[in-house]
Amino acid sequence: MQHSKNIGCKVVIPASGIGARFGAALPKQFLPLQGEPILKRTIAAFEAMDMVDEIALAVPPGYAHMVAAYGFAKVRHIVEGGKDRAHSVYQALLRLPKDTDVVLIHDGVRPFVTADLVQAVASAAKQYGAAIACTPVTDTIKQAGAAAPMQIQKTLDRSVLWRAQTPQGFTYDVIVEAYRQGEKSGILHQATDDSALVERLGMPVYIVPGSPRNIKITTAEDMAIATAFLEDL
Ligand code: C5P
Repeated sequence: MQHSKNIGCKVVIPASGIGARFGAALPKQFLPLQGEPILKRTIAAFEAMDMVDEIALAVPPGYAHMVAAYGFAKVRHIVEGGKDRAHSVYQALLRLPKDTDVVLIHDGVRPFVTADLVQAVASAAKQYGAAIACTPVTDTIKQAGAAAPMQIQKTLDRSVLWRAQTPQGFTYDVIVEAYRQGEKSGILHQATDDSALVERLGMPVYIVPGSPRNIKITTAEDMAIATAFLEDL
């Protein structure tokens, strides 16, 4: 697809989870979805986008060779991931050139990312410094205590709640500073997305409409949904 406003951006893909929730022998990002590993599909989506010029990946120990063999030209860095998502992202982020303009961070297990969404997040990130794809919450969300039997403490106002997706886009200086401060404060492991670290800096992060199809494949049910999406294409 051709875009009038082309932003050259770099993409960081954390793909170093071991997929504990999925229960398969292989980490979930390497499971085949209609014959192609999920991660390969995710990388292929970015490889095909004109606005993307470089990709840095974080993969589990022992997987770099296999991922390099996928043969994508834009994959310039493959690092060993860390003990949680944020440490994996940070390792890959540090490999990008210091003159990088916009960085997009995208989960390796979200293969249905589109060029339109990437363009929207990249444009907003360039304009505002930080922007993430989100979808509205449609379920009613309860807050509960952790101990069983779990008792509801309150019902949250869903009109102001959003589901954070990826890509999450930032100017290079903003996201590197957010990770640097997060590591210094020892709270990287608490950050389940990148935006949380930027929010901690007190910087504004803006919402770009995400897509209900841009799912994170986390469970066996997600795998069935992803297969149905592909059959529907
Ligand atoms: O575990 P979570 O759902 O947050 O995973 C989101 C993405 O982060 C996945 O693509 C997963 O492979 C990646 N991840 C990582 N390093 C970890 C844990 C998760 O790169 N240690």
